[in-house]
Amino acid sequence: MSLLAWMYDLARDQSPGVERLEDWLKRSAAAGYNALGLYLEHRFAYPSAPWAAADGALTPEDARVLARSARRAGVRLIPFLNTLGHMEGFIGSRGGTWLAEGPPDQPLLSLQMCPSRAECRDFARALVADALAAFDDEWVHLGGDETRQLGQCPACAQRVARIGPGGLYGEYYGDLCRWVLARGRRPCLWADMLLQHPDALACVPRETVLFDWQYDQGPAETTGRLRAQGFDVVCCPALHTFDSAWCFLGLTQQNADQHALEARECGAAGLCLTTWEFTGLSSFESILPLVMAVARRWRGAAWHDAIVAEGGAGYAAAAEILGREIPAAAAFLAPGTWRQLRRHLVFSQNPFRLWLAWRDEAPGDAGERVLSLCDAAERALPAGSPLHYPIELHRRAVGWVRDVQAADGHYARGESAACVAALERGAAQLERLRPFVEAAALGGGSRVDGARLDVLLRHVGEVVGRIRALEPAGGRWLPAFEWLVMDGYVPGEQPGWGVRVR
Ligand SMILES: [Zn+2]
Repeated sequence: MSLLAWMYDLARDQSPGVERLEDWLKRSAAAGYNALGLYLEHRFAYPSAPWAAADGALTPEDARVLARSARRAGVRLIPFLNTLGHMEGFIGSRGGTWLAEGPPDQPLLSLQMCPSRAECRDFARALVADALAAFDDEWVHLGGDETRQLGQCPACAQRVARIGPGGLYGEYYGDLCRWVLARGRRPCLWADMLLQHPDALACVPRETVLFDWQYDQGPAETTGRLRAQGFDVVCCPALHTFDSAWCFLGLTQQNADQHALEARECGAAGLCLTTWEFTGLSSFESILPLVMAVARRWRGAAWHDAIVAEGGAGYAAAAEILGREIPAAAAFLAPGTWRQLRRHLVFSQNPFRLWLAWRDEAPGDAGERVLSLCDAAERALPAGSPLHYPIELHRRAVGWVRDVQAADGHYARGESAACVAALERGAAQLERLRPFVEAAALGGGSRVDGARLDVLLRHVGEVVGRIRALEPAGGRWLPAFEWLVMDGYVPGEQPGWGVRVR
């Protein structure tokens, strides 16, 4: 296999900057990678779409500097765009909602643009042209994954009735891939939609490189099918960080090992480790040694040796605790669950949802085990290690749920001053995450997470205000605590319509 790559998800609020990326290129070469993919979406300052470039987006000049550094490091630098699905960063920008496939009355619900409208096709070509001008690798990745809205708008629905969703997808990408080939470059696509709609494969030129991402299983069966159709295929495992509070280490190791084995058996063109979504109280810096360790593993090292070589013995010990022992300590955090801690705490924009989801477990023995494992992981680490952030996240999440549980008890007993005090203790726990969030932003990570933390704390303050506004009950009606803490709470509304009709 010639290609040993990893892909960095720059699109989710990240602002690594040129120097840090240059450092990663050197580290990548030392660890054994020969390519780095930059997953850009809207975080590249496309000259054709200047309205979509927010602060911290990678610029074409940055890309030219990096392309030169990459050549010096002996690492290919491959741009990964998206050109049909996952256009939400464009659609959510002023000047971009016209791209939405639908529904027409709620364009912000659209993750996809329309493959039938000529102006959308031209928009995609302009993005690709911008990338071809800034990056010099032979390959350009056009994305194409998770286009689940195929056939939604009236124009697309008409075409789907005639040629099916595979025909719609195949015609769109067949055209774009030939357009790239005509410019002397080689197009790449994620394979998931082609596997789902195999009739689309007939439309796609055979020079297209297909990236077969399989995060919960090996790629043998799917890559075998694509190889049988005459395509070069890159097999793509993932770091199981996007679906966890920090990382499911066992799933990651199994996924990376299985891909290495089966990619070889299938005659794949290479491997690409994908890393996704370092946002929502998540830190890429804390993961970087694991990224590099995967290349060492693929070059034959034992896992433990690979992680120690990249992160040091303390990092390796703490990673075992965070990535294996903590997920085993609480059913809520178990491998295979979907980032429940961060989903309920931060993505929900209402931290009381974490209490609702975890109140049966966090206040008891499981929470105690998580807290003592956090202490053990912290003892293994030097000061300043980026792993202190995920440790603190686990610790404060347990503490928050416990404080809300106490507040609920006080509320039930009519002790509103004690209820408010417990919530204020809980808010102080969440505030303890602030220095880690700020350090992650300075380290190239999400610049949005500080504002996300503000949203959570504002909601706690709002709930405290609601409690203070309630008259002492004296046996009369009061809202349930579960209703009082909800986003749609309206004072005096007994049936809780604000939750039920959403
Ligand atoms: Zn359409």
